[in-house]
This record gives sequence, structure tokens and C-alpha cells, in this order.
Amino acid sequence: MPGEQFKASPGTRDVLPPESRRWQALRAAFADLAGRSGYELVETPLFEDAGVFSRVGEGTDIVRKEMYVFEDKGGRTLALRPEGTAAVCRAFVQHRPQTPWKVWYVAQNFRYERAQAGRYRQHTQLGIEALGTEDPDVDVEVLWFGATYLREIGLRRVLLVLNSIGDAQCRPAYLDLLRAYLHERADRLCDEHRPRIDENPLRVLDCKRAACREATADAPRTVDHLCEPCQQHFQRVLEGLHALNVDYAIDHRLVRGLDYYTRTTFEFQATALETANSTVLAGGRYNGLVESLGGPPTPGIGFGSGIERVLLACDAEEAFPTPDRGVDVFVVDLVGGGAARDLTASLRERGIGADRAFEARSMKAQMKAADRSGARFAAIVGEDEDAAGAVTVRPLREEGEQELVPREKLVDHVKGLL
Ligand SMILES: [Zn+2]
Ligand SMILES: [Zn+2]
Repeated sequence: MPGEQFKASPGTRDVLPPESRRWQALRAAFADLAGRSGYELVETPLFEDAGVFSRVGEGTDIVRKEMYVFEDKGGRTLALRPEGTAAVCRAFVQHRPQTPWKVWYVAQNFRYERAQAGRYRQHTQLGIEALGTEDPDVDVEVLWFGATYLREIGLRRVLLVLNSIGDAQCRPAYLDLLRAYLHERADRLCDEHRPRIDENPLRVLDCKRAACREATADAPRTVDHLCEPCQQHFQRVLEGLHALNVDYAIDHRLVRGLDYYTRTTFEFQATALETANSTVLAGGRYNGLVESLGGPPTPGIGFGSGIERVLLACDAEEAFPTPDRGVDVFVVDLVGGGAARDLTASLRERGIGADRAFEARSMKAQMKAADRSGARFAAIVGEDEDAAGAVTVRPLREEGEQELVPREKLVDHVKGLL
């Protein structure tokens, strides 16, 4: 009886070789920059008490419509992690590490949303968080990190947009101004936002619909209504970006509708992608988040960057090509497989990528496999070589004569060639 065939669920996908090589290389590039910048890896569970996420995101689409919530057999209400920051802050509150706490993560996030290009129900984010300091130079470091990561993987058409949205001191007065402004123009707003002016006026500013955009063309701007400390913070951030040659544009519409976001908010957009899906990295400062999770008042800033979206941007720019497999030598064994077994092991143990065929295939089949493997050299052991205790080393991808090498010298010989 044939078994039922399954496919990956809608909105999820398999990442197979050779694509997975690119994923691996991207994570490695991020990890490398994180290591150079003093950020250490943090791993949090795939699921948490749903309260961790709902408390911090109440009123957002992520929490209201897109979170995977379930009850486990012990009656706990759990949720699959919809985003990275809340889980990292929960871990901070639980373990109280020394500050500044600078960490990075690679995390699968889950959101029940409409599947479309570059948007998945399970997607993978790379991100950093720096907790415990309000120093604007940390904002600069985080922004520089984002710009450097994207540059190091080869993206060139990237635009950093940023804004400062103030804090608990200056935002209430600004929101009053904005509400008054919006009420005067309520009839011109889109259907979704007209009834929600009082509830969350900031969201009108980042509405993508033409009606809202036109009605708010000269709405009051957060940066014009910052208190003195917020102004100084923002100035220092801009100075830092100039000093480090990080280009940016200020975008007054870049606001976050949640109370715990403060001051710096930013996005890196890949201009090679369509505007609706061009954000490749986004984040901001969140000075109230740790407190909302039961911790002491602790400022923080960070960003998340979706791997799928970043790779789409790389495709659009023909950047970050798929790396080689890392197989340097393919051992072709025509004497029963023992030579291939032993030689691949010695090559690998000495740091050389090596592979082989199985099941005593013909010379022709093994040479084909050697070509497919991407190896630079074939190490061939036929009957003559076996009798002489030698190996024929044949270049596969470059000009050059083949050479007969004593078997015990193979590893050193190959090292000399690579
Ligand atoms: Zn709107
Ligand atoms: Zn302020």
C-alpha cells in the first residue's frame, strides 16, 4: 500500500543544497561580524508563554492575528515565537546578566500571514540586541552593524532611513498635536485609520494608502517636538553616522505604534526590491520593553533581518553568490573501495575537503561524480597505482598535467596544490 505523500505546509519551505550553502554562508558572515563587534550568541526556545509576546505587542497585527497560540498538555497557553526581541528581553529579565548585554541570534519566527514572495509563516531572522545602556553611541554601533553586514555580503543599493520618535517625556504632547491635526482632516483618511485617530495616531503616519499619505503630507514631525535630552541623543546619533560614513535619510513616517519604542527607529531598504517588500533590516530603541516583562527599567536597542528577504535583495543585485561545496579532492577508487575509504579520511582529518563514490561504480561513473562534486582534483587509484602504492592526481577544473604521487605523500602533495 503506497504511503501518503506530504508536502511542506503552506508558507513554509525546505532549504536544500545548493541554496542551503548560501544560508550557511550568510549566517557565518553575520556571526563573524557579531564576534568582531563584541556580540555573543543567544538561543531562546521556539515557544514561550504566550504572555511574553502578547504583553509587548498588544494591538499589533502580529499578536492579534498572526501568532500561533496553543495549549499544551499541561494546560499552559504557549505561543510559537513571532519575533526575536521579546524572547531575548524575557531571557534578560530571567537571568539578569551584566550590562551592557550585547547578543545576537539566528531565530525561526512564526506568523500566520498570507504567504507571498519573501514572506513565510516560518521565517528566519538574524538579529542583535544591546541591553542596559542609553548611550547614543550604542545606537550608532547598532546602525553601523546593520550597514556593515549588508555591505559585507555585497549589497550596494541599500538605503538607511531613520527617525527619532521621542520618549515618555515629549511624546504625549506631540501625540496631542498629531491627534488635533488628524481630527481636522479625518474625512480624508483611509477607512481603517479614520476611526482610530485617538487610539493610535502614529499608525496613520506609516499607513501606505494614498489617502492617509496625502492627508498627512505636512503633519507635525516627531523630530520637531523632541525634549532636550531626546534632541541631544538624536544629534549624537547623527554625528556618529557621519563620523562612520553611514549614509542615511530621515523619514518622518518611520514610527512605531507601540509605547515601549523610544527615540531611534530605523529601517534598511533594498532599493532593488519592490517598495512594499524592500525592508531587509529593521529595528529601534525600546526603553520600556524589559520593564513590561517584569524586569527593572532597562534601555535596549536592536534589529532583526530576515534571511529570505536579504537573499532576495542579493538576487536582485546579483550579490552574494552560492559558495562552493568545499570539496577539494574526489577520490576515484577502482580497486574495491578501501583506498577511497582510507584516503578520504586522511584528507579530511588534515583539513582538506574530500569526497568519494560508493558501490564500486565504473571509472566513467566515478569521474562524472568527481566533476559534479566541484572538486579541483581527482585522486585516482586503479590497479597500477594500487600495485605501486601510488595515486594519480588529476586536475579537474584547471589546465595541468596529472601526476603520480606516492600514496603516503598524497595529503602533503594536495596541500601544496591548494
Ligand atoms: Zn490609513
Ligand atoms: Zn524626549
